Amino acid sequence: MRTVRAYIGLGANVGDAQSTLTAAVHALAALPGASLAGVSRLYVTAPVGATDQPDFHNSVVALDVPAGPGRNTGPIALLLALKSIERAFGRQDRFRYGPRELDLDVLIFGDERMAVERPEDGRSPDPAKATRLLEVPHPEARRRLFVLAPLSDLAPDLVPPGWPESVARTRARQESSEGASAVRAIAVWDVNLGRWSD
Ligand code: ADP
Ligand code: MG
Repeated sequence: MRTVRAYIGLGANVGDAQSTLTAAVHALAALPGASLAGVSRLYVTAPVGATDQPDFHNSVVALDVPAGPGRNTGPIALLLALKSIERAFGRQDRFRYGPRELDLDVLIFGDERMAVERPEDGRSPDPAKATRLLEVPHPEARRRLFVLAPLSDLAPDLVPPGWPESVARTRARQESSEGASAVRAIAVWDVNLGRWSD
């Protein structure tokens, strides 16, 4: 079966974030047809957008998934799988950029560039909510150090579709504007233990 490498952003700031993210890595690895290709360091990051909330824990996972097309393959199938993992971890609907038990975003899906509009009746009345069901590469990824730092652990030389430069260079640029203290690596993924360790 043809596979494609996807990069998934993980974030949490409610409850025991490190345990949640560890369990989420295992849930991703267990998706049908998926195989775990890498897990970044674990970062503690200052909240962006709504700053009056606890710090986040963030990581990025590289996952090889079935390339599609087909009912259970491709970027939309992956997004729906992520949404169902979020629900399984008890994610409550709150305001955008607000606290969350678990956030899973499709950052990159191979060399795909796509934007799928949400059906009219599926739109949230909250104007701050995304009107796009799916956009890859994730439009905010380039501007967020909490995504770029862990992504750079896994794929520093990658130039994602539509980006003018590599992940590492984008990260360096963003670090000089946000300041290096915005993100802090606290642990390294141990493949044998299946968790982060300091
Ligand atoms: P945030 O933008 O903070 O991640 P949510 O997790 O609530 O907020 O996401 C809002 C919506 O963004 C999701 O329901 C999803 O349909 C949409 N979306 C668009 N592109 C993506 C993507 N690449 N990955 C994840 N969600 C996406
Ligand atoms: Mg999200």
